Amino acid sequence: MANSYKKTTNLPKTDFPMRAGLASSEPKRLAAWEEADVYGLACEQNRGNEPFVLHDGPPYANGPIHLGHALNKTVKDFINRYQIMRGREVAYVPGWDCHGQPIEHKVEEHLGTERFNATDPSEIRALCRRFAVENIDLQRQGFRRLGVLGDWEHPYLTLSNDHDAADIEVFKRIWDTGAIYRGRKPVHWCTHCHTALAEAEIEYADVTGPSIYVGYAMEDVPEGLADAAMPVSVMIWTTTPWTLPANAAVAMKPGATYVALAHDGRAYIVLEDLAPRVASVAGWEPELVEVGGEPWRATAEELSGLRYHQPVFDDVLCPVITADYVGTEDGTGIVHIAPGHGADDFYAGVAAGIPVVMPVDDDGRFYSDSGDTWGTGGPWSGMEVTEANPKIVRWLEDRGALVHAGTVEHSYPHCWRCKNPVIFRATDQWFVSMDDTGLRRRSLDAIENEVRWYPASSVKRIRAMVEGRPDWCLSRQRVWGVPIPSFTCADCGASVMNDATLDAVIALFHEKGSDAWYTDDPSSYLGDADVCPECGGHHLVPDRDILDVWWDSGVSHTAVLKDREGLAFPADLYVEGSDQHRGWFQSSLLTSMGAYSCPPFKGVLTLGFTLDGQGRKMSKSLGNTVDPNEIFDTLGADIVRLWVASVDSTSDMACDKEILDRVSDAYRRFRNTFRFLLGELEGQFDLETDGLPASELTALDRLALARLSEVHAQVEEAYGEYRFNQVYRLLYDYVVTELSNGYLNATKDRMYCDAADSAARRSAQNAWYQILSMLLRDLQPILAYTCDEVLAYVPASMREGKGFAALLSWYEAPMDAAERDALLPAYRVLTEVRNAYTKAYEEALASGAVTEKTTQATRVSVTLPQASLDLLAPMAGDVAEFLVCSEVELSCGDGLAVTVAPARGEKCPRCWNWRELGDDGLCDRCHEAVDALEGDA
Ligand SMILES: [Zn+2]
Ligand SMILES: [Zn+2]
Ligand SMILES: [Zn+2]
Repeated sequence: MANSYKKTTNLPKTDFPMRAGLASSEPKRLAAWEEADVYGLACEQNRGNEPFVLHDGPPYANGPIHLGHALNKTVKDFINRYQIMRGREVAYVPGWDCHGQPIEHKVEEHLGTERFNATDPSEIRALCRRFAVENIDLQRQGFRRLGVLGDWEHPYLTLSNDHDAADIEVFKRIWDTGAIYRGRKPVHWCTHCHTALAEAEIEYADVTGPSIYVGYAMEDVPEGLADAAMPVSVMIWTTTPWTLPANAAVAMKPGATYVALAHDGRAYIVLEDLAPRVASVAGWEPELVEVGGEPWRATAEELSGLRYHQPVFDDVLCPVITADYVGTEDGTGIVHIAPGHGADDFYAGVAAGIPVVMPVDDDGRFYSDSGDTWGTGGPWSGMEVTEANPKIVRWLEDRGALVHAGTVEHSYPHCWRCKNPVIFRATDQWFVSMDDTGLRRRSLDAIENEVRWYPASSVKRIRAMVEGRPDWCLSRQRVWGVPIPSFTCADCGASVMNDATLDAVIALFHEKGSDAWYTDDPSSYLGDADVCPECGGHHLVPDRDILDVWWDSGVSHTAVLKDREGLAFPADLYVEGSDQHRGWFQSSLLTSMGAYSCPPFKGVLTLGFTLDGQGRKMSKSLGNTVDPNEIFDTLGADIVRLWVASVDSTSDMACDKEILDRVSDAYRRFRNTFRFLLGELEGQFDLETDGLPASELTALDRLALARLSEVHAQVEEAYGEYRFNQVYRLLYDYVVTELSNGYLNATKDRMYCDAADSAARRSAQNAWYQILSMLLRDLQPILAYTCDEVLAYVPASMREGKGFAALLSWYEAPMDAAERDALLPAYRVLTEVRNAYTKAYEEALASGAVTEKTTQATRVSVTLPQASLDLLAPMAGDVAEFLVCSEVELSCGDGLAVTVAPARGEKCPRCWNWRELGDDGLCDRCHEAVDALEGDA
């Protein structure tokens, strides 16, 4: 407004900086928060109110934070900040998962495997502990820099003494229900890492491996085949030749029909439907053995119970059995069963009373110590199993047992840590039974009826995981973790564990931590419990296996929620990535159901994963990672936070430089709007002195408040449902589309050009005040730093006497739902009229009907249906203000139509509106405004 009247107007005046400079301003603000203990103040101010507990899932203490970490903690901070504003007593205790193989692996890498293996476990544990603690500090700094409120000085660590003890307390509770047992079972076993692996620690990858068809010579010849007077074999197909020494049975499909292929004077039994294919694979004529002019046929049931010679140990006779899982699509329709090396085989073997033969040691080598007998590697004793594979194939070929050898590509389990292929191997392990005490059934019931899942569809994942999972194998043959509290009697070899020993171990861990397991003599802490129930001896030796690390983090409901003051069990909410349906969500649920028959959470929010802009996984090798620490130092943490709000965090989320540029642009729109609002409010208005009741506001301002109330209600609902991208979308559209182009643009004339304390300007200031107050509060959980910055400039009454935006109360809309809903129809019609006008104005410009390139130079006729007309008729002047035109004429018609004509009068040099001008050359309003100023002077 470069004219001489400029100094007579109320142009924006605020000290709130246009440029954010977040990278340099945020660290100072953070220091002030920490100095004042904003988190502590928030707890204090809501003390005694209804609590809200979001229980932090502990990240692994391994390296600095990455974007996935940042996303996770930011979402949690949105939730906590929102709940604090709602007045809930929020206690947020961040945690770290400190035990486990990744850290032990780093220490092993550092020491070298040889030195590692020669080092005392307690020393390894000390090194692991140091690594974990250093990394916790590194991550904690990153999380704090994000602006996440929480008890950062007192996080929970799964390596603390009390957490160690809680591991065993929960173990004991479940032990007492009878759900924990020791069993020999095939588990995924990494021969490189020397440990059993949980399903969650397995990654599948395609490999090309051997594929062999082998004949096992029958001892018992099936009925009818004796007439054919030739030796008989059952033919199997396998991709793991090394499991042949452990073969203990072959299984056929119940109800299926089998035939015999004739080749070289021998009969090979195969599934009838697969016989032509098997013959073709073997390169044989598809000739069937006939008896009495008909192909010989037998059902699985007829063949079941017949014996054949173990393929490696000829003296051993093994049975034909039936099993439902036998496939009829691949191979021969006859499955080679090695119960020591496969879960299905194991269960089929148990059902048929077949022994679990397991000839492979921890290193993946065949046992050789008991000679050339079943249960060893036989001819391959001492050999590593994959090395034995080709030798076994050649051996079979030499003996004439090999029908065909080829290769096949298939999906094979690999160790998540060392990436090597794993084997299935039966060992003595501790298990939690899923079914013996109804744990699975009770957990599924709780999943369905006692927990709310966000998004609702995520219930399917956890349900499927719990429905399909095997018993939980707890044993890990590692060092860095919490020991399984079992002893072996040195006198008789019995395994010893009972309530008395468990109580003694719990007390020991509380006092000294689980390190004491490796250093203290059991007689020093077991007391009266130091006795073998089998032989009465007093020489109990602590076993060496540790608990699955998922147990550690899983029992945080006890170590943290139950044991720590200010928290509550069950928690209101758990929030983690969707992979935790296999991991933490599940281990928390199962341990809680097992120990307390109740889920540890009332709600579970699932987050997706961060990807690059092209939807690829972020990885150092692709060079497409976005490092949050780098964004802190360039764009600022509020940009990370705004990015998190802008993406649908329940599915996979893309991030790259271009996306962050767009987020930065959105940030500027929010910041500019704050500045624009402050420009007419800071030092010029306060509710206490200048506030007006809604009835005294102009019609347009009332409609604006109705719409504001509506948007706020929608934002509130979205926060309540953890749909932050909806919060973002609502506020972005409201600020950028509606306010900037609509209401704020329309009312700035009144703000700038009316007399400073005129009723009309005060009315607009009332509305702007409400908009500012609403945006400040509705955005605070997201733009934590920026809103805190804004707080210093807002009218005093908006601050509620608070020094930090995080402590503000949630916004309360100036209208109740009834008042709001009564006004909204008029707002909608008004918006439709404005859209129609915008189009008509463009057309009028194009056709030359108007020539001035400003809407202020137009006058507008609007026809509306009667019902709409009734809504706008009492406020024609407000309609003109909203359209930013000189005048509006409303009339009744069938539909909405807008015509645009040049304005009457001339352009007022002060306000640039087209008006009839007075003697001083100004419009009436400007005349009054200037007069009022001169009166003051
Ligand atoms: Zn491994
Ligand atoms: Zn004993
Ligand atoms: Zn004027």
